[in-house]
Amino acid sequence: MHIKNFIIALGRLIWMNKSRQRAIEKIALNMRDKCNVISYGFQNIFESAQKVGYRVIRYPVGKDSLLGFAMIKDGDRIIFSNSSLILSREIFTIAHEIGHQKLHLSETDKIFIKDIDFDEKNEFEYEANYFASCLLMPEEKVRNFIKFELNEKHRSLWNGFDIARLQTAFSTSYEMTLIRLKVLEIIDGELFDRLKMEKIEQSASKLLHRISGNVDLCKSSEFKSLPAEVFEWVISNYNERLIPVKSLQTALNYVDLRVEELDKAIINVDQEKDDESESFDDLLRGMD
Ligand SMILES: [Zn+2]
Repeated sequence: MHIKNFIIALGRLIWMNKSRQRAIEKIALNMRDKCNVISYGFQNIFESAQKVGYRVIRYPVGKDSLLGFAMIKDGDRIIFSNSSLILSREIFTIAHEIGHQKLHLSETDKIFIKDIDFDEKNEFEYEANYFASCLLMPEEKVRNFIKFELNEKHRSLWNGFDIARLQTAFSTSYEMTLIRLKVLEIIDGELFDRLKMEKIEQSASKLLHRISGNVDLCKSSEFKSLPAEVFEWVISNYNERLIPVKSLQTALNYVDLRVEELDKAIINVDQEKDDESESFDDLLRGMD
């Protein structure tokens, strides 16, 4: 994801129709209640999403690959996030995909949205971004944080450490935190620019480190979590000769299994092995 695009995309949200904006905010707040978020930010949004019924898939598909997708498959609501991205952005991706699920997908109409970039000139992208901002940083919680944790520190005295504290509390990226503060009119353009410069000089991970904040937000987790059904799809796709053996092996690596170890009743061992390179699209073929 290009940071610049991301900022522009979120910045445009202020042009959204007010009543639609309120409706989306309400849906996001209801989702927080459903997930029992009592603190400022989610403890673990991936687990929370799973608990409220989404099938969460995380997979490191590379920094220049897609950000994520939302899909309905056989009645299951699936959300995928690319865990090659730094954790704070991956968290934003999951929140964005939940937004697509709540706002744009339905069993009878649209069942798949793939996100290469959130900056598409598309209303759905703005809405999903707005939903994600409200889900991760609700206005009331942000104002409470400033009141109770920053002790109403005067804005003119704010520095990168204050942003790093907000980041740690809400599990957001430095950029997203700044944008949200600006959209809520808590900081003005001048302060936004100054705080942004500070990050360029110090880097977000240094700022987080200095306040003993959550430094993991600036690293990619490379986390892999796939529901059991994915293996079933992969195996059936392999048996149908839709994917090469290498793709099958890639999926099996997560459970430390070798293709040779699979029960002969499950896989078609007579299939000729080829050397085609695996790709994530191969793994998920058949899910479309
Ligand atoms: Zn999207």
